[in-house]
Amino acid sequence: MPELAEVETVARGLRPLAGRRIVAVRFGKTDFIDHPERIEALLPGSRLVEVRRHGKLLLLAFDREPAAAKAAPALPGARFWLVVHLGMTGQLVLHEAACPPARHTHVWFSLDDGRELRYTDIRRFGHLRLASPEELAVLVAPLGAEPLELSEAEFRRRLGSRRARVKALLLDQHVLRGLGNIYADESLWRARLHPMRCGSDLTAEELDRLWRAVRAVLREAIRHGGTSISDYVNALGRPGSYQKRLRVYGRAGRRCPRCHAAKIERIVVAGRGSHFCPRCQRAGRSAGSGSPRQVRVAAGKKLPRSLGPG
Ligand SMILES: [Zn+2]
Repeated sequence: MPELAEVETVARGLRPLAGRRIVAVRFGKTDFIDHPERIEALLPGSRLVEVRRHGKLLLLAFDREPAAAKAAPALPGARFWLVVHLGMTGQLVLHEAACPPARHTHVWFSLDDGRELRYTDIRRFGHLRLASPEELAVLVAPLGAEPLELSEAEFRRRLGSRRARVKALLLDQHVLRGLGNIYADESLWRARLHPMRCGSDLTAEELDRLWRAVRAVLREAIRHGGTSISDYVNALGRPGSYQKRLRVYGRAGRRCPRCHAAKIERIVVAGRGSHFCPRCQRAGRSAGSGSPRQVRVAAGKKLPRSLGPG
């Protein structure tokens, strides 16, 4: 499933489209889209001005045509955002218009240069919506800090003050935004921390190690175009290659690439399969209590479906 590194790769692939105008929008299935009629009314004639990533969200800013303002007075102002969450299997890929559409293509954005941006999603757990700048601010307000932007001190404060398991904290989109199961496991292995340790039991040195590990893993994954285990492809339809460099994720039973002595194990923490080396990542005191299967993510405000941990 697309996490921060994959969404960042897609965003980078879409940025060269800034300045292009949308000339038409077509839909297939729309049950995962908020107000498709709003998209149909507003996007044609609008110009893409900016592409951002916010956690796992893709944000495309458009400036609308004056004529479209009358068609959809619900969105005041000239600027609006197309908010895309790729869910499990969503793909946003640029195609030549003549290229036959893949199965499960549900949205076609025709561009003024003759190409099409197509949204494809086998499982339709993705989400699309339009938002005014004010609506976008409300939508992203509950999200935590950007892992590649927050300081060591802020990271220590956010994770070190919490009783929850460190794996759950890394996945909690209120704490950090954009991390998912793959990069959480890879970061914990790199930092030599057991996924069951509690945030508040980690020393300052351990938290700093984890901060550095998260950044190193994400930067490396972005450099390799993300991880393509099942469906993920970039904006040009090409897979990433970080799956070849995963050290623990999906490697249960194989030898740890650091100590070469122990085999990678898989346990369930916070409801998610967690991969770790029992030799490099010692459980410690705080990880001891309770069976791993009973551990849950610390209760928090529920996120809208499109922003959930995933
Ligand atoms: Zn090891």
